[in-house]
Amino acid sequence: MDRRDGTIFLFLSVILLSPLFIPAPSSGVPLDDDVDMAEKAPENCIPSPRATQTHSGNSPMMVGEVSTKKSNGNIVRIEFTRTSNRAIPDGTIQLRFGSFGNVTKAEGFSKQSDGIYNWDRSADPWIEYRVNETHSEPNEIDLTNQANGSQIVPLPAYGGAVQVAFEPAQHGYLGSRFAYLGEYETRSIQAGCQEITLIIPSNAELVKPPDQILNALNETAYRLPVGRAYDHVRVFGYPGDLGDVAGFVRGTEYGVNAGPEVIIEDQAPLGGPLEFTWRHEYIHTRQSFALTSELEWVREASANYFAYRTALDSGSISPREYDALLAWNHGRNYAKQLANHSDSRVAYVWGPLILSKVDARMQSTTSQTLLDTFRWMNHAETDREGITLNQFQNHTLRETNHTTSPPPEFNLTQAITTTEPPKPAYLRGPQWLPAEIREFWLPVNIRFLRLAYRFAGILWLVIVCVNIAEYLGLTIEK
Ligand SMILES: [Zn+2]
Repeated sequence: MDRRDGTIFLFLSVILLSPLFIPAPSSGVPLDDDVDMAEKAPENCIPSPRATQTHSGNSPMMVGEVSTKKSNGNIVRIEFTRTSNRAIPDGTIQLRFGSFGNVTKAEGFSKQSDGIYNWDRSADPWIEYRVNETHSEPNEIDLTNQANGSQIVPLPAYGGAVQVAFEPAQHGYLGSRFAYLGEYETRSIQAGCQEITLIIPSNAELVKPPDQILNALNETAYRLPVGRAYDHVRVFGYPGDLGDVAGFVRGTEYGVNAGPEVIIEDQAPLGGPLEFTWRHEYIHTRQSFALTSELEWVREASANYFAYRTALDSGSISPREYDALLAWNHGRNYAKQLANHSDSRVAYVWGPLILSKVDARMQSTTSQTLLDTFRWMNHAETDREGITLNQFQNHTLRETNHTTSPPPEFNLTQAITTTEPPKPAYLRGPQWLPAEIREFWLPVNIRFLRLAYRFAGILWLVIVCVNIAEYLGLTIEK
């Protein structure tokens, strides 16, 4: 081996062996290491009642026991019994079934109008309803596709002068508008004034260990100083296929205030190219804003954008991986307009690109970030119609001191009517670097690349050892 060969040999060795000394989980460096977690914990939580309680908080006069029919798990039965000998006051129990339940049979309940039933005060009333697939825009949700034995069922809203509460007839866990019936386990984590509980059906196979999922949700909770936090968020793992979506939060399917309950497929990705579904759904529980139809895309866009952002800020993904996610989104060309929300994929995929630009501009010109806009939206006084595009635009402009001529990225009117994917604000590398190259750093790809690189390193080590052995005059027995 001459001198030149030796140099090349040494150079190759350094390149190929270096990955062997990088610790395996190093996915990147958190941008902000000195985050004061305690200051950003959810505060001033609002109550999230459960169906196991009466509205007044007093003990119920009647209890409805919830079960499913053995012959058909999609038929739910609620049987009411008196809980004491106290006189029942005048009035009724009213049950209101949303789009998830369709009453099939009842005794002691009479129909008032579609989906609304009143107790007629006869003894031992009961009601049965079928679990429905919803047909509400933008996504259909199907609760009937459950792995055998598992029962996540909708519960009716209840009211009236007669105070009621619900209980599972056997085993089960009741949230506010959904219940799991069957054997289960719960795991919880505390984030400031908020408790996050994961309800794990016995036949669910979670995509990651429960603690890892709760940690990701906790990280998200600590990085969203946007107000509006429930004191208890309940996350139901769903062992099956929910249809168009991998998860949903009660309320958002009608484009209104999100409730405190998340239903999510047990195999939903904790971090993937399109969605960080668990973080995404949690973020919905922190949205209390109403939006006009032209701005409705911001609901899904902000859930996705802050899912990436909180993953980045907590060090779960590196800046390059964050850029890769934006690049992946940029690479999907739907030739649709954001203003036309009929294809919601556009909102999920292009929305974060626009928000990344608005956020970058806010951060570079003021001390405000898009989180401040999120908080403003949560508390803004708006009419019933919700926040308009103009209000959103004016607010972000005001915060960036561009009251006269808005920079192009703030021209949201134009941004949402284009059919070209908007260019995001990347964090690393030249802005012109093609999306196809940035996509290599997707968390999925990077894991594969790192593995391949390591394999090459090990192979090289073997070659080097064999060469040294030969050089020292040893022979390898064939
Ligand atoms: Zn969503």
